[in-house]
Amino acid sequence: MHSPTQLAQIFREKQLKLTPQRQLLFGLLHENKAHPSAESLFEVASKQMPGISLRTVYQTLGELAEMGELQLVDVGDGAKRFDPNMGEHHHFVCESCGSIHDVEISSTPKIRGEGAGYEVNDVGVVFHGKCTRCGESTKRSPGHQAKKQVAKTK
Ligand SMILES: [Zn+2]
Ligand SMILES: [Zn+2]
Repeated sequence: MHSPTQLAQIFREKQLKLTPQRQLLFGLLHENKAHPSAESLFEVASKQMPGISLRTVYQTLGELAEMGELQLVDVGDGAKRFDPNMGEHHHFVCESCGSIHDVEISSTPKIRGEGAGYEVNDVGVVFHGKCTRCGESTKRSPGHQAKKQVAKTK
């Protein structure tokens, strides 16, 4: 994603609405590694700018996604997440605290066998387990759960 200043410039050039609400959202999204949902972003934005509407958040996120500034991430928890990191990466989801982390994988999986001819538009790998913070706390207690890895291909 471009910086908030560059985005303001792009919005002006495209003659899109550039309101203080939108500029606040640019700032909140910039280098945001938390993979927020529209609702969680709305919550944070409301604290800084009471009166901002959820509709504005949805609209701004939609426009940024359409412009290729954000990507949609689905880690299977039912909520659509937004990610300003447009570089190639995959995700790790912590089963304890629900945090989502960017991860790199050693190679991108390819379909073998019968499905090899399918036209693939996007490959998303989601790892499930415990983040460093949560893993530390289970290591101290006996009978900690084994880490689970699930590779999911869209
Ligand atoms: Zn965690
Ligand atoms: Zn990500």
